[in-house]
Amino acid sequence: MAKYVYLFKEGNASMRELLGGKGANLAEMTNIGLPVPQGFTVSTEACTRYYEDNQKIGDDILEQINTALAETEKICGKKFGDLENPFLVSVRSGARASMPGMMDTILNLGLNDVAVQGLANQTGNVRFAYDSYRRFIQMFSDVVMEIKKSYFEGALDEVKKAKGAKFDTDLTADDLKEVVSKFKAIYLREKGEEFPQEPKVQLLEAIKAVFRSWDNPRAIYYRRMNDIPGNWGTAVNVQSMVFGNMGDDSGTGVAFTRNPSTGEKKLYGEFLMNAQGEDVVAGIRTPQPISALEATQPTVYNEFVKIAQTLENHYHDMQDMEFTIEHGKLFMLQTRNGKRTAGAALKIAVDLVDEGALTPEQAVLKVEPKQLDTLLHPNFDPSALKKASPIAKGLPASPGAATGKMYFTADDAANAGRAGIAVVLVREETTPEDIEGMDLSKGILTARGGMTSHAAVVARGMGRPAVVGCGELHINETTKTLTVGDKVFHEGDAISIDGATGNVYGEMLPTVEAAVSGDFARLMDWADKVRTLKVRTNADTPRDTKQAVAFGAEGIGLCRTEHMFFEADRIAAVREMILADTVEQREVALAKILPMQQGDFEEMYKALEGRPMTIRYLDPPLHEFLPQKNMTEEIAALATQLNTTSEKIIEKIDALHEFNPMMGHRGCRLAVTYPEIARMQTRAVIQAALKVKKECGYDIVPEIMIPLVCEIKELAFVKKLVVETAEKVFAEQGTKLEYHIGTMIEIPRAAVTADEIAKEAEFFSFGTNDLTQMTFGFSRDDAGKFLGSYYEAKIFESDPFAKLDQDGVGKLVKMAAKLGRETRPEIKLGICGEHGGDPSTIEFCHNVGLNYVSCSPFRVPIARLAAAHAAIKAKKN
Ligand code: ADP
Ligand code: MG
Ligand code: MG
Repeated sequence: MAKYVYLFKEGNASMRELLGGKGANLAEMTNIGLPVPQGFTVSTEACTRYYEDNQKIGDDILEQINTALAETEKICGKKFGDLENPFLVSVRSGARASMPGMMDTILNLGLNDVAVQGLANQTGNVRFAYDSYRRFIQMFSDVVMEIKKSYFEGALDEVKKAKGAKFDTDLTADDLKEVVSKFKAIYLREKGEEFPQEPKVQLLEAIKAVFRSWDNPRAIYYRRMNDIPGNWGTAVNVQSMVFGNMGDDSGTGVAFTRNPSTGEKKLYGEFLMNAQGEDVVAGIRTPQPISALEATQPTVYNEFVKIAQTLENHYHDMQDMEFTIEHGKLFMLQTRNGKRTAGAALKIAVDLVDEGALTPEQAVLKVEPKQLDTLLHPNFDPSALKKASPIAKGLPASPGAATGKMYFTADDAANAGRAGIAVVLVREETTPEDIEGMDLSKGILTARGGMTSHAAVVARGMGRPAVVGCGELHINETTKTLTVGDKVFHEGDAISIDGATGNVYGEMLPTVEAAVSGDFARLMDWADKVRTLKVRTNADTPRDTKQAVAFGAEGIGLCRTEHMFFEADRIAAVREMILADTVEQREVALAKILPMQQGDFEEMYKALEGRPMTIRYLDPPLHEFLPQKNMTEEIAALATQLNTTSEKIIEKIDALHEFNPMMGHRGCRLAVTYPEIARMQTRAVIQAALKVKKECGYDIVPEIMIPLVCEIKELAFVKKLVVETAEKVFAEQGTKLEYHIGTMIEIPRAAVTADEIAKEAEFFSFGTNDLTQMTFGFSRDDAGKFLGSYYEAKIFESDPFAKLDQDGVGKLVKMAAKLGRETRPEIKLGICGEHGGDPSTIEFCHNVGLNYVSCSPFRVPIARLAAAHAAIKAKKN
């Protein structure tokens, strides 16, 4: 019989896929002898089975749960529903990859009208027993039965008000009994039945709820954001309860072995006495720093410091730990490799190498490529920062500078973010429902919560700058206002936050670019040593090129020539060319464009200082360069300039109109109909290369790329134009240089006939934007409108334009690479779509054996690190 349930003592850290991260680490901590409340894990495979069996737990799994439960009761010496010694558990989700705040934990399960008295009897603490019971009723009702939390919060507030209590802790045992009976009444009212009294029923319902939560909308969104497959499932941990709310010698907390924000090697965390579970994270009371524990509970503190060190040595990584103190006894509830900012990730990785705990290759794997993004983006201009005066100061929860307009709800922030507005989300505190709004904001500011609050944890994970716990702010969500002192701000007003200092400014502050140095440079150096995939950039201005080179680009993989045509000083000549009626007229116009285009290439070659550049010939449909029909003034001006009439120009615009321009007259089709364009571009490339080679001594080998080829004869036709023109230039100048002609593979037919195409092409560059578009038959400009429904219906898990579809489009890439190499073993292969900067796609490219990826300048370091990860992982397999 397949095994679906594991006692903690049966598992270990390597069983993460089966037991989830939390379960595997609880097992590991048990094995190394740390104080862990015992329990068992229902595996991720049971979750997958649950969905396969139409959201039911199979009988064989039920039986294993019952056996494990009996076993755990024995180990703990307690029994479910017992009047003397009741067994209480927590039910905790735990997926393979940590998904903080995504799944809901249920505490104190097993409490009922009898067990609550048992708990009171056993502890002699009636207040504590009823406090636990009311927490359980609320959590169970909310998480499992989906009864609104606000009903319970409302009832609790009523009792607090009636008793004049400020905090929950001010309530007496009798007050809490009253709360419990109110809570049960709410349950009865909402569900039409009494609160379930049978602990086993409670347990099964809770397990099912955890399984269900795997598929709640925020979990699905988080998975899409983090590339986590939907079929992994979550495990469920059932663990004996320990109590941090048993009085002033009890408490609960979270801590990191190093500072997750800066990477500093110093125990870092927070705790609350007489509190349970989520109280620390929820920001209801303000927690104390971990160092304060040393004074009040020195023995516990020293033991904790020792355990923290043991865990860090054991995992060779910074740990994020959750603990509870029950009557002065310490229990470990969780450990995991802690989430950290990009800056902290670099420092910790480099420090661990210096401390001898990691090899450079292991350290490289400790930094997530996507995370680097935050380091590559701007910080506030120091001089502007000096002059500005903050309106408030909160906790520096996640570094980086964010400046934008303030919005007060996650929905408003998400809408504004989608509309391209730079948004700073300003909230009392954030909740897991806010995740999308947070993702679409440039920065996050909250009035409540500590360094481990939801806002802080999630912002660090996303690499979003955040300032939290800024108590001076008064936020009114209803009127959408923020009041600080006597200043009132409204939705859409300017705000800046500095996640490194916690300062908040009531104005927009200018930002400056980031630099690659220190720890960053050392780690990237190690990454470069192991990677085999080259990293180029997509750039068509000297400025972008220099930025990319500073970030480590080894050349340009895609220089789009059309972008050069749009510049104000040359669009006139381009329009003249397009509107020409005869070849002669067109050649006159092209002669005007030639020196400008050649000048562009010269500057690019200079910026590259000898690095290679793949230049793509004119690609978009020509109508894109003309004014739109309703732009009457522009058309009239153009008519005057070209000595013609507006009518004639409109006629031409009409003639160029296409129903489906993406599949229209573009790419190499332009060169087939207007060979003189390809000739001009060839002249520009070759003349520029010869000139810069002579002036600067760089060994330039131009790479000329013909776009949108679907048929070998098409490529042969354009190639002939290029070769003839190049030969002419060589003859004119009495000198030569080597150059290569290749093509983009971006039409499925080209991929399928790549063996033929390779007879003419010296290199392939996979244009995965168009290839995806044409393979799926989705327009990339319109897909956004319906992809949402595809995620909801679980047809797709991610956007194929952001993450390469390896099964379909990837298969074409693989096939074309193989066919191309059969014809021309030395053919150079690269990728230049948006996908070139996506880590999972980069791993795919490494495994297919491409020579390079090309991505936008800011993604170059990400691609270098991802390529290193791919190489190290491939070595391991
Ligand atoms: P999350 O993954 O959201 O952190 P957890 O499953 O770790 O959720 O549970 C949240 C908190 O609940 C823990 O940090 C801990 O304080 C509390 N908790 C969970 N299990 C127990 C337990 N067995 N005894 C006491 N407290 C627990
Ligand atoms: Mg936890
Ligand atoms: Mg294309």
